[in-house]
Amino acid sequence: MANTTAQPHTLSRTAFARAQTLFPGGVNSPVRAFRAVGGEPPVIARAAGCRVYDLDGNGYIDYVGAYGPLILGHAHAAVVAAIQRAAADGASYGMPTRLENELGALVREAFPTIELLRFVSSGTEATMSALRVARGFTGRDKIVKFAGCYHGHSDQLLAQAGSGIATLGLPGSAGVPAAAVSETLIAPFNNLAAVEAQFAAWPGQIAAVIVEPVPANMGVVPPAPGYLEGLRAITRRESALLIFDEVITGFRVAYGGAQARYGIEPDLTCLGKIVGGGLPVGVYGGRREIMEVVAPLGPVYQAGTLSGNPLAMAAGCATLHELQKPGVYERLEELGARLGRGLESACRARGVPATLHRVGSILTGFFTAGPVQDYASAQTADTARYARVHTALLERGVFLAPSQFEAAFVSLAHGEAEIDATIAAFTEALAA
Ligand SMILES: *Cc1c(COP(=O)(O)O)cnc(C)c1O
Repeated sequence: MANTTAQPHTLSRTAFARAQTLFPGGVNSPVRAFRAVGGEPPVIARAAGCRVYDLDGNGYIDYVGAYGPLILGHAHAAVVAAIQRAAADGASYGMPTRLENELGALVREAFPTIELLRFVSSGTEATMSALRVARGFTGRDKIVKFAGCYHGHSDQLLAQAGSGIATLGLPGSAGVPAAAVSETLIAPFNNLAAVEAQFAAWPGQIAAVIVEPVPANMGVVPPAPGYLEGLRAITRRESALLIFDEVITGFRVAYGGAQARYGIEPDLTCLGKIVGGGLPVGVYGGRREIMEVVAPLGPVYQAGTLSGNPLAMAAGCATLHELQKPGVYERLEELGARLGRGLESACRARGVPATLHRVGSILTGFFTAGPVQDYASAQTADTARYARVHTALLERGVFLAPSQFEAAFVSLAHGEAEIDATIAAFTEALAA
């Protein structure tokens, strides 16, 4: 059974009102404010397994999972114990530790394309640093990113295709100077001709192509067959680097990420989310000769006071050890498929136009007849319907991401019973 939210929301409302006096919109990351779906977010007191609980004691089956990291579910015993052990030995030293070696070795075993890596404290830092390395290594300034792909909030990456200048980056946020995105070229996802056109327009000037190999920040949009292979071939031919932003897909769509699932070898890889087990960790790494440009070996500067933080390293190691157990990814695949099938047939039964995309344990049901293959087609989704369904699900004890354009994350803590309860609640929500 989905938990019905029988309790009132008094304590949540009071806490969120106070938060609004402290933080812009009451939150420390904008999507949490529920502006895309309306209503107020529950204020969370604790979480366990696949459920989060608000201050008033209402439980929700959680498909947000902190936006990706919590593939084991909340408060997994092994992760909690690892963090407690590490904390007892001190929170940070600013000196090397063996825990860094341990997690570093685990990352490198999982991602054979990573010969040398560096830990940072967020996905944003990982992509920002990888691009600096790509520019330092190639001596070129321009980068190609894809409309609808999110790589964190650094200035250069907050760019989308502008309507007037279809292929040149325009700032996607106030406060980003035009100069910061002037070297950022935009292309639609799943369209190799558009990438060829950028290389033809800027011969010898593009340092790197950065891509979420399975975009999950415009909703989940799988790469078309041959697309990632095409990006690899074009970048290789042009002596530009291919950067896979696997902050979501790493340890998610396979233990070795999308590069293992699709058999593609990028030059640089960015990781985050799962690799920190719920604590702040990012990684960038790749071929040795490229990563050797990073200080102190080379001229590309990058640093971090809390990089390689022992608590975060411990949480990451504990998480990856759990993910190495046999059958884990088969189980995630099974649970994801069960949820996907259920949501799809509920839409079909009610005649609601929907396009369901799933890769392993990440999925998005777009409320559009589709097809959805890029940002423009994702935008055809009925976001008003998504908002109504989101609210109706929340009332029924199911927490889906507060935006049509975020993935739903299934964890190992979800079971058939919770998935089926979710499908039942979704069927009701469609009718409501
Ligand atoms: C979340 C995310 C980032 C940014 O990571 P933060 O830790 O939020 O800075 C970068 N790339 C992708 C693909 C992401 O999903």
